[in-house]
Amino acid sequence: MERPSLQQAEELLRRHFGYERFRPGQKEAVNAILAGDDVLAVMPTGAGKSLCYQVPALLLGGTTIVVSPLISLMGDQVTALSKADIPAAHLSSSLSAFERGQVLDGLRQGTLRLLYVSPERLEDPHFIAAVQAARVPFVAVDEAHCVSQWGNDFRPSYREISRFIERIGPRPIVAAFTATATASVGDDIVAMLGLSAPRKVATGFDRPNLRFSVKGSTSKDKLAHTLAFIEEHPHESGIIYCSTRKEVESLQAALVARNVTATRYHAGLDSAERERNQAAFINDDVLVMVATNAFGMGIDKSNVRYVIHYNMPGSIEAYYQEAGRAGRDGEPSECLLLYNDGDIVTNRFFIENVQEDDRLTEEERVNVQASQRRRLQAMSAYCMTTDCLRHHILAYFGETPDPARGCDNCSNCTEELALFDGTDLGFAIMRCVHEMRGGYGKTTIADVLCGAKNARVLDAGLDSLKNYGTVNASASRIRSLIELMVAKGHLAMSEGAYPVVGYGPRWREMTEPGFKLLMKDTKRASKASSKKRRPDAMVNGELFERLRRLRKTIAEEEGVPPYIVFSDAALRDMSAALPTTDAEFLAVHGVGEKKLASYGERFLAEIAARKS
Ligand code: ADP
Repeated sequence: MERPSLQQAEELLRRHFGYERFRPGQKEAVNAILAGDDVLAVMPTGAGKSLCYQVPALLLGGTTIVVSPLISLMGDQVTALSKADIPAAHLSSSLSAFERGQVLDGLRQGTLRLLYVSPERLEDPHFIAAVQAARVPFVAVDEAHCVSQWGNDFRPSYREISRFIERIGPRPIVAAFTATATASVGDDIVAMLGLSAPRKVATGFDRPNLRFSVKGSTSKDKLAHTLAFIEEHPHESGIIYCSTRKEVESLQAALVARNVTATRYHAGLDSAERERNQAAFINDDVLVMVATNAFGMGIDKSNVRYVIHYNMPGSIEAYYQEAGRAGRDGEPSECLLLYNDGDIVTNRFFIENVQEDDRLTEEERVNVQASQRRRLQAMSAYCMTTDCLRHHILAYFGETPDPARGCDNCSNCTEELALFDGTDLGFAIMRCVHEMRGGYGKTTIADVLCGAKNARVLDAGLDSLKNYGTVNASASRIRSLIELMVAKGHLAMSEGAYPVVGYGPRWREMTEPGFKLLMKDTKRASKASSKKRRPDAMVNGELFERLRRLRKTIAEEEGVPPYIVFSDAALRDMSAALPTTDAEFLAVHGVGEKKLASYGERFLAEIAARKS
C-alpha cells in the first residue's frame, strides 16, 4: 500500500474536524506514524494529543486500538468522533454482552476505524481472539506515563500492553502519549511498552491562554476567596478541586447555601449520582463542579473557564494536568491555587501513610514514595515562589524560558506581592534546628522559637534552650517559613510518620554574602482580587449568548454535551466573523463538512436574525 501523505491527513483534518492545519507537534507525530515509526509524544493537556492518533487511524485502514485508562473518557471521545462522521466504539464493562459482541464483530470486519479499550481489557480472551482475526495496523497508548512507577499515576495493568502488542501480527505501529515530561518517565515508557526506535515528539508545555495565580489563604479564608472568584465569573463553567471527599461535601454544601449552582463528584458517591452530576456539569446545567481528583481525567469539556484548587495537590504534574482542564479551547482561562502550609502537611501524611498495595513489590513501594516526596517539595516551592509562576512550571518540565522576562499573565507578574523579609527569622530557625540536633518537627521548633508555654514544650524542658523565645513572630509564620526553607533545600524534612527538621542539602547558600529569604505574605480575601478577562472588541457578546443558547437547545435535542456541538471558541469566532454563506461558515474554527451539514442552517439563521 502506498504510504499516506501529510496532505491527505490535513485534508481529513479539515473535512472531519474543521481545523485548518495541524499544530507543529501534531504534524511531527502524524508524519512519523504515517511513515511507520513508533512515537513517544510528550504534550501538555490541551495540546491536541487525540488528533495525533485519530487522523492517522483514518488513513491506515483496519482498526486502530486506543488504550486509555478511563471509561468516561472513552464514551465521550466516541460520541465526539461519531459527530465528526468517524466510526468508533469502546469496549467496557458498561456495555451489555450483546453490545460487546457487536463491537467485536465490527473489529473483525474492519468497519470500525477506532476502538477504545481499558488496559484490563487486553487480557480478555474474547477480545484477543477478535484482535487476532482483525487488521490492527496501529496501537495508541494514551496517558502512557501510567506504565511507569516514576510517574504520578502508576497503574500496574498498563504492564500488560507490551505483551498484548506482541500478540498482534504483523507488529503494529505503536505511539505513546503523555503529558509527563521527566526523562526517567520517558525512558520507562519506551522500555515498558517495547517501543522500537521511537520518534520523540515534544511540544512546548506553555499554555499561554491560562492565567496562573497562587493565593496564600488560611483555611477560613478559602471559602471567601472562592466565593469572590465565582462572583467575578458569573455564567462561566469551572471546576474546584479539593483533596478529600469530606472537603468536597462541605464546600459544595456551603456554595449551594449561598445560591451558587454547584454539584459534586468523588469516589465515595454511588455511580448513579456520579454520572448524574458529571452530566449536569458537562451539559452546562450546573456551572460549578466541586470534586476530588477522581473527577476530570477523561473530561473533554472544552469550555471550562477556570479551575480552582482549594487545596494544594501533591505534585506539579498533577497540578498542571488538573489546572490544564481549563481553556482547552484556547480561550483565556484562569487557574487559581489556594494554599497554606497545612496543605503540605496533609500531602506529607498521604505519602507516609500509603495503603499497602500488594501489586507493588517492596522496592517499587520505596521508589514510589521517594519520588512522591521529591514531587511534593517541588509543588510547595511553586506555592511559595516569588518568581514568575509560568516560568516555574516550565522550568520544572525542563524548559528554559528567558528568566529576565515575566509572562504578564500570572499573579506573581501582575499583582503587587506583599513580601515579608524572612532572612533574620531564617537564621534564627537554623540556630534553633542546630541546637535541637535535628530531633524535632516543625511545630515544636516554631513553639520553641516564639516561646510557647504549652505542655509539649514545658514537659520536655525545651524552655531551657538558648533559642527559646528569641524571636518576635507568630508560630504560624515560623512554620510557613520552615516550609519555604524546606522547599528551597536549606532545611530538609525526614521521612516517616513524624518528620523531623534538619539541615538541607543547600544550607550553605545561607552563609553567602547578600543572602535574602523573601516570603509571600498571606493576603486576606478581597473582592477586587483577580483581573478581568480581556474584553474582545470584535466579539458580539449578545450574539454569542444567543448562539450559546442555540447550542444548548441542539445539545438537548441530540442528548450530547454542548461543547461537542461547538466549542466556545467556535461560537466566539462565529459572533466575530458573522458568516452568511456555507463557505464562510466552513471557515469558522472547528466547523467541518459534517458540522456544516448538521448545524449550518440553524446557526446561519440565528446569525442573520441578529439585531444589528
Ligand atoms: P489533549 O488530549 O492533549 O489534552 P485534546 O486532544 O483534548 O488535547 O485537544 C485539545 C483541544 O484542542 C480540543 O478542543 C481540540 O479540538 C483542539 N485542537 C486540537 N488540534 C487542533 C488543531 N490542529 N487546530 C485547532 N484546534 C485543535
